[in-house]
Amino acid sequence: MPIRDPGERFFRNTALAMLLLALFASGSATIIHLLEPEPMLLDQTLPPVMTLVYSVLLLTLRLRPSWIMSITRIALGASIAALTIPTWIYVVGAYGSPGLRLVDTFPPISIALIVVIVLIMIFLPAKQAFVTASVAWIIVALPVLGYLFGHPDELWSSRGKDMVISFGPAFLVVLVLIPFHRGLQNKVERLHADHEHMQSVADLDPLTRLYNRRACERHLQQALIEGCRVGVVLFDIDHFKKINDTYGHPAGDAVLKEIAERFNQAIRKDGCLSRWGGEEFLMILRRVDESSLKGIGERLRQVISEEPIDCVGRVTASFGVTMVRPMDTLSTILDRVDRGLYQAKASGRDCVIYMSAEHCQQQDELSEV
Ligand code: GH3
Ligand code: MG
Ligand code: MG
Repeated sequence: MPIRDPGERFFRNTALAMLLLALFASGSATIIHLLEPEPMLLDQTLPPVMTLVYSVLLLTLRLRPSWIMSITRIALGASIAALTIPTWIYVVGAYGSPGLRLVDTFPPISIALIVVIVLIMIFLPAKQAFVTASVAWIIVALPVLGYLFGHPDELWSSRGKDMVISFGPAFLVVLVLIPFHRGLQNKVERLHADHEHMQSVADLDPLTRLYNRRACERHLQQALIEGCRVGVVLFDIDHFKKINDTYGHPAGDAVLKEIAERFNQAIRKDGCLSRWGGEEFLMILRRVDESSLKGIGERLRQVISEEPIDCVGRVTASFGVTMVRPMDTLSTILDRVDRGLYQAKASGRDCVIYMSAEHCQQQDELSEV
């Protein structure tokens, strides 16, 4: 299933990274304990089991990406279990054998608890994250802290102080900082969504819901950068003033909306249709050449003129069309397409005039003479 939402992609990549790191950590622990001169049975069994669990979860995530939430929960649950089992065995062992000091035997897993807590805060919804993190702390950190505070000689050893700080204040910092960061992230996402919404509203013409002139100029600039095979169509409704005068301004508005609707359905997805102003519309068409552009112009003309519009009857429009050339600027392309439209009006309206750069040049030369 393809991922379209960047947030979702980020989430999946983070889950993949989490599982890879967990696999790396459990794999390293397996190797270290294999090399250890006198390993405990637990140290020899738990890391390979966890390596297997993380491998299976990683494989499942690759094969079934939509199971991401369940896989993440299982991975977090398995990690908490992998921390709880040795904690309890070593703490109970230290209570049971007065000669055995916990600070000497306890495996280096305090940092692993902090990592798991961070992951819980990242992956689970806020409320669930707090409950799970607290439960993880109660079953993993609390027994160790309880033991240490009951054995001051071990508490004040350097490993003891290190364990107290990792299981106490460091845990609290994570518990406070991650939700704070999450709150900030939500705020930024909301601002971003608001900005996108405002931008889309600012780009739209309120009557026709087409792009307005400002947005269209931006699209046109972009099309000029893209360069070749871009066509521009400018068209203007014929005798629109008469429609307003005869049927009233609201009927004129309805005509503009209907024409926008018809063209929206006719235009390809990569095209851009805008209300250029009043009863003038501008269209940018990609992947066209001169002859296909002329054909499209003709079809668009028919889209308006062949089917009468409710209440006002047959409406026509005049079209200027031109192809973007490599040296074009916004003003040269607009000038050319506008001349096409002007000529269409002068030729009796309801027609399409293709205006080439050569034709423009001839016109300029003639006007200079
Ligand atoms: P031509 O064939 O030469 O284009 O003639 P025309 O009557 O269409 O052109 P003219 O420029 O004389 O009139 C355009 C009219 O469009 C005048 C203006 O009141 C009307 N108009 C502009 N914007 C709107 C609008 O949003 N709604 C309505 N109903 N009319 C509008
Ligand atoms: Mg007009
Ligand atoms: Mg006009």
